[in-house]
Amino acid sequence: MEKNTAVTLLGALKKQKYHLVGSHSAVKRCKWLYESIVQGRPCYKQKFYGVKSHRCIQMSPSLYYCTQQCLFCWRAQSGDLQVTWDEMKIPKPDSPEEIVQGSLKAQEKILTGYKGNPKTNWRKFQEALTPKHVAISLTGEPTLYESLGGLIEAFHQKGFTTFLVSNGTLPAKLSSLSQEPTQLYISVCAPNEQVYRKVCRPQFSGAWAKLNETLVLLRSFRCPTVVRMTLVRDHNMNQIDEYAKLVEKSNPTYIETKAYMHIGFSNLRLGFENMPQHSEVKDFANKLAQKTGYNILNEAPESRVVLLSRLKKPIQVTSA
Ligand code: SF4
Ligand code: SF4
Repeated sequence: MEKNTAVTLLGALKKQKYHLVGSHSAVKRCKWLYESIVQGRPCYKQKFYGVKSHRCIQMSPSLYYCTQQCLFCWRAQSGDLQVTWDEMKIPKPDSPEEIVQGSLKAQEKILTGYKGNPKTNWRKFQEALTPKHVAISLTGEPTLYESLGGLIEAFHQKGFTTFLVSNGTLPAKLSSLSQEPTQLYISVCAPNEQVYRKVCRPQFSGAWAKLNETLVLLRSFRCPTVVRMTLVRDHNMNQIDEYAKLVEKSNPTYIETKAYMHIGFSNLRLGFENMPQHSEVKDFANKLAQKTGYNILNEAPESRVVLLSRLKKPIQVTSA
């Protein structure tokens, strides 16, 4: 990446409170870290799976890099800020240990902001100083980081649980992970290739076929798997029959249907009116449930997300 490009990007990312780690990773304070410590309101993943929001690090090893350019993405994409770069390759990868250490430091820095807040829950604050969960999901495609399995291992060795979110375009990387995450998410944000090209804007030909390969591969994972659908009004909320076929192909433990949120750099590509209401997400989930035989297990209207599964209740995640 050219120096001027890097300076423009860094400025924009720092404004959005990204804490940069090494040369291609970042940690960002999740809104729910604050909500949990200060307002006593945990995120939907605590509600669904028991992950503690106040002990969670939200990070990415692939800050500037992805194989797609989804319309709804909050990531800075090449072209967004009149700067361009090759998004498909991380030039000089840092080691997993460097990324883990840097992420822990960044989280510690984020937490110092709570010391002066009179509303801080001190028990939670103390616990937060020893994080136990990492969401490898902030932005970018993590499978572009060649040592992703090593990164997962390094977090597990420190007693962390890991949720990994991938767009599924690099099945070979997923099938060769040296260690599975605690839970694996694959984003499925289009019912067919036509919508996929418009909404997810893949950066190489054959990406839809690769995503479909990943969906089949999902069956071979031992960890719980999730098909995550980010729903954008007027863009990808129809053709439920076709979504159901993709679910059938992958047989995930869960489906999460979630509203697009009008935040970050997505503001440059979509309007506020593209954000569906929770009732629309629920309506979509109900129709999907009818087509797939999955049941609605839970929902979080504040995050506009609905959880579906064939299980009676979600598996609770416990850290070491
Ligand atoms: S699990 Fe996700 S939503 Fe919950 S605190 Fe962590 S990053 Fe935020
Ligand atoms: S796959 Fe994820 S990181 Fe990549 S462009 Fe889409 S939403 Fe953004």
